[in-house]
Amino acid sequence: MSHLSFELEQMLQARLRYYRDLGVYDFYRRGEPDPAAPLLAMAQKSEAVPAETRVPTKTEADPASEAIGTPANFTLDSEPDIPPRKPLPQPPAFVPEIVPAAQRPSALEVIRSEIGDCTRCPLAFQGRHKIVFADGDPNARLMFVGEGPGADEDAQGLPFVGRAGQLLNNMINAMGLKREQVYIANVVKCRPPQNRTPEPDEANTCMQFLWQQIDVVRPEILVALGSTAATYLLGRKASLSSLRGRIHDLRGSKLIVTYHPAYLLRDPTQKKEAWKDLQIAMSELGLKGASRVES
Ligand code: URA
Repeated sequence: MSHLSFELEQMLQARLRYYRDLGVYDFYRRGEPDPAAPLLAMAQKSEAVPAETRVPTKTEADPASEAIGTPANFTLDSEPDIPPRKPLPQPPAFVPEIVPAAQRPSALEVIRSEIGDCTRCPLAFQGRHKIVFADGDPNARLMFVGEGPGADEDAQGLPFVGRAGQLLNNMINAMGLKREQVYIANVVKCRPPQNRTPEPDEANTCMQFLWQQIDVVRPEILVALGSTAATYLLGRKASLSSLRGRIHDLRGSKLIVTYHPAYLLRDPTQKKEAWKDLQIAMSELGLKGASRVES
């Protein structure tokens, strides 16, 4: 039974939507406080300015943006990682042998057939229409990883084909590439209902297949789109701003973390920050780029 007034509940919901837009999905409790306490505290803080009308300042949305070109002693690592509730499962052991380019399409087909008509996690029973395996070139030098399919992806069986996908296509084109030249996959291959964030058991169940895809494609650069992809690829939960703007080593690839295109659709002012991240990828790949990111 809810003990919150209707007004307070509305404010809390708006506040949670705001945090989700920023890529913050989980809230952690230390000690044994009242379960409602963190939310109540947030609601009280938000009383001064209604959450719905409040536009995040540049530094709230991305504290790292302040750091670029500012005091040398402010490192991108200065924000402490958020301790996970329980340790995230570790990826399978890294095998340095590379799948020969000619064998990659069939190796990926083997992974797809291993997935089959998957019922390994609850997403199989929550309105899924199509399993969204991946799209693009099995020999791509650049791979993007998103969170999970939305409605359009679920209907078509392809990743990033909705509005966020159109923006991702524009981002790829701005880098001087075509969508067909990159490889695109997600943390989970089935649509979470109402596009909610995948639950840890869903993501952890599905990650085994993403690891296999990464090990077959072995891209030079991996781009994690948003917090969910970054969390499950890196095996630790940290703020997006502490992960952006630099290269992480991951299974023989270089990982770059940036905003999810769906977030950029909600806050286009952050596109220039995402572009900075993509420029790191471009410089690693020796790409000159075509034009600026379009909306
Ligand atoms: N968002 C994602 O994270 N993945 C998709 O495939 C589409 C939207």
